[in-house]
Amino acid sequence: MKKSRHKKSRLIITLLPTVIIVIIFIWFLMTIFEGEKPLAQLTPLPDYISRSITFNVMVSDLKMGLREVKVSVKQDGPAIYLLKKNFPYEGLFNKKGIHTFDEKFTLNPKQLNLVQGQANLIIEIHDFSKRRGGDGNLTILEHKMIVDTIPPSITAISRSHNINMGGSGLITYRTSTDTCESGVLINGLLFPGVPFMNNSQTGIYLCYFAFPYNFKKDTALYLLAKDRADNETKKSFLYHIRQKRFRTDKIRISGRVLDTIISSFSSDIFEPGDSNIEKYLFINRTLRERNSAILKGLCQSQTKKKLWDGPWLRMKKAATMARFADQRIYYYKNKEIDRQIHMGVDLASFARSNVQAANTGRVIFAQELGIYGQTVVIDHGQGLYTMYGHLSSIDVAVDQPVTKGDKIGITGTTGLATGDHLHFGFLVHGIPVNPVEWWDSHWIKDNIYRKLSMLDKIIEK
Ligand SMILES: [Zn+2]
Repeated sequence: MKKSRHKKSRLIITLLPTVIIVIIFIWFLMTIFEGEKPLAQLTPLPDYISRSITFNVMVSDLKMGLREVKVSVKQDGPAIYLLKKNFPYEGLFNKKGIHTFDEKFTLNPKQLNLVQGQANLIIEIHDFSKRRGGDGNLTILEHKMIVDTIPPSITAISRSHNINMGGSGLITYRTSTDTCESGVLINGLLFPGVPFMNNSQTGIYLCYFAFPYNFKKDTALYLLAKDRADNETKKSFLYHIRQKRFRTDKIRISGRVLDTIISSFSSDIFEPGDSNIEKYLFINRTLRERNSAILKGLCQSQTKKKLWDGPWLRMKKAATMARFADQRIYYYKNKEIDRQIHMGVDLASFARSNVQAANTGRVIFAQELGIYGQTVVIDHGQGLYTMYGHLSSIDVAVDQPVTKGDKIGITGTTGLATGDHLHFGFLVHGIPVNPVEWWDSHWIKDNIYRKLSMLDKIIEK
């Protein structure tokens, strides 16, 4: 027994170096023939390309390291190389070689004479593994894009556009079918157009826009069209801006009025330790600004259908107490304390008068709104909205359809109002405009209906 055990251990000792050599050899083969493919990441990944784009390619191979990185763009013809990089083999098992690589490259479709249509961006990476007959592991990353360098077309259909400062306008136009966004651009403000008859296939659009009361008379107006590749066409059209002078109104605030106003707002909107003037200024400035922002946000919904019909109703037997864009200068103890612009028309009749929906639409807001108190906002479709402020009660709910003349509430003094009245506001895509135009059947006929009936004739043909 003892002898045979001795024989066995002698055999192990003799074979051990061979075993170790075999293990090392296997490890060596596994290392140089490693099968891990290089990793690649490309940013950005646009679906369309219209102009020069700078891409970033990030590649890595943590085992044998990177041998070669190639980036090309391919259409029907031969591939065009945008980036080619070969890396040297350095150190034992390329330990000192390049394992991560991060590089930017630019693709300019016009410079490369790419044709309109599909183009594939191809990234090929080889590593230093001995696999595939010594070529190494290969990773191919392919990104498909559409080359589109032709901007969309846009042409006005309507001819006369006479716009009052602080007023509204309507333009009708035709675009090429690749257009995905269009409208009127004024000083960075884009008023979106809506497809005529709810059908974008005709390429005919109409766009209600506002000329904000505080824009300079010589502010340029453009028609704008964009396609999915982000090509943009900006085109001028015929228009005439009519200068308007807005009134200035002095408002004297007594200590008693100050108390009444402040007490009608919840005390937790003020900072502790604020004086009455500070509280008043918070309401008149900060709260006013916040409320305008809420209104602007509300009046962005895209109801593509025209819900309204004919001129808007003006509250019956009501006197105009304040006009649109009146500049109000506020005085306290004969000292000017604030200046604000009135963004609607104040109408007063008997206290607690019925308030009617000025036109057909859908209620999109029916609750308290800071300085405007109990407020209703109606969406009339295609970017036109009306608001009704300072109500003592509201008779409608959000999402409720209303017909012109429907009772929606009762006038009151809620919010920042000293006497019972209705604050009536008109907004075009969230921008306040002078409601007077929309009450005027002649203005609507000349500026709106004439243009809409012209579209009907085009469609009939
Ligand atoms: Zn008002």
